[in-house]
Amino acid sequence: MRTKDGRRRDRRGWLLAIVFCLVLGGSLGATAMLKDPAPRRIPPGETPGSTAGETPAATDREFAEGPAVGGARSALPDTGFKFIDTGFENASPLWYEPAEDGAILVHLIYDHERSSKNRAAGHIHFRLHAKAGSRQTLEFKNLDNVWNGQPGSVARELKALVVSADGREWRSVPTQALPENRIRLSIEMPGPQLFIARVEPYRISDLDSLLTRIRRSRQVKITTIGETVEGRLLEIVRIGNPRAPFQVFVRARAHPWESGGNWVVEGLVDRLLAGDAESKRYLRRYCVHILPMANKDGVALGRTRFNLRGRDLNRNWDQPADSELAPENAALERWLEGMIRAGHKPDLALELHNDGNGMLHISRPPVPRLAEHLRRMETFEALLRKRTWFTEGSTKESFRNSGTLGDGWLERFDVDALVHEFNCNWIAGLQTAPLARHWKEYGANLALVLEEYFR
Ligand SMILES: [Zn+2]
Repeated sequence: MRTKDGRRRDRRGWLLAIVFCLVLGGSLGATAMLKDPAPRRIPPGETPGSTAGETPAATDREFAEGPAVGGARSALPDTGFKFIDTGFENASPLWYEPAEDGAILVHLIYDHERSSKNRAAGHIHFRLHAKAGSRQTLEFKNLDNVWNGQPGSVARELKALVVSADGREWRSVPTQALPENRIRLSIEMPGPQLFIARVEPYRISDLDSLLTRIRRSRQVKITTIGETVEGRLLEIVRIGNPRAPFQVFVRARAHPWESGGNWVVEGLVDRLLAGDAESKRYLRRYCVHILPMANKDGVALGRTRFNLRGRDLNRNWDQPADSELAPENAALERWLEGMIRAGHKPDLALELHNDGNGMLHISRPPVPRLAEHLRRMETFEALLRKRTWFTEGSTKESFRNSGTLGDGWLERFDVDALVHEFNCNWIAGLQTAPLARHWKEYGANLALVLEEYFR
């Protein structure tokens, strides 16, 4: 039975709904609602719907069914922005929200290192949907990475992004740095969709295309050496004759955001398989063994740095690999030990990365023949400067980054190993922002560098 008091509560509820509708810009729905219970003036000090213990019926309906006025409550300011799509291979996990000035705040999601303060965000790869011709402003949040236990915002390294209408043809665009490590991108939409990425993406499907393309070459042997945490196969791509006088090892993509290394590998592989007089000369002198995508799970899922068990695959090389936490590194270590047993220890190992500097990381662990190692690294750097666009230089004498592949392989296996970073924002030697074609060109010239290095 309806009491007088109950009716009053109903009216309060209706009133609450009306206030919501009016405040939020609804007029159509509000008019319809006015037809039934008459509005009641709210006595001073009373809040609509505040009657203790009960939720007014109309308010229940409001929350259950959404606003009475279609979409008004949830509509964005009319900037033409529609959606950020991350539902595809290698897209970066994120969430977003509108800022008051119409920008879209893009919150990147960190990935974390196990038993460590370290965390990383910085992989950017998504598809922006917005009205063609509209200008969109995106602000990137969660750039406060922790690296080697120290806070290290990635904002200062986020000077450029790449954009593409079709996900294949990319161009570089500068970002805008604001105080407090804020980074914005302002871009006019050339069509209804635009891919935006940190560096020109290289996906597992791109690697699969490469492997399909080269698999039948007489110079190529592809061997599975193990699996990632999620069971993706890890391949070593061997180019050339394993009995060649010198053996080179190259690894790319320990850190999933750093796709530059994969483009370098493509350039190197294509140059070595060109079938011309030079490539035949190169392959008489050396054989290359490549682990092209060390952190395939991270690449698939659009992670930034760590593997799925929270391990950094370019750390912990100062000790035997943990097959449980880092099966990717354990597989590689087994392969390396097999090569050493077979008398094919790599004469040079290159660990390819991207950062904001692009230097060679020459580590100096306390090994017996460090001086000879450093002299060989000087030779290698001089050849890079001579034969490629490399000008960035190498780390100074005090540099030591324990546990990297470069440091660990030198210390534990006496392999001339180094980390080669590629600046993701700028190629000083070409005075241009890097795209895949620049890194492929570098990889092609690396083939000549290696031949001269082993002369
Ligand atoms: Zn890296």
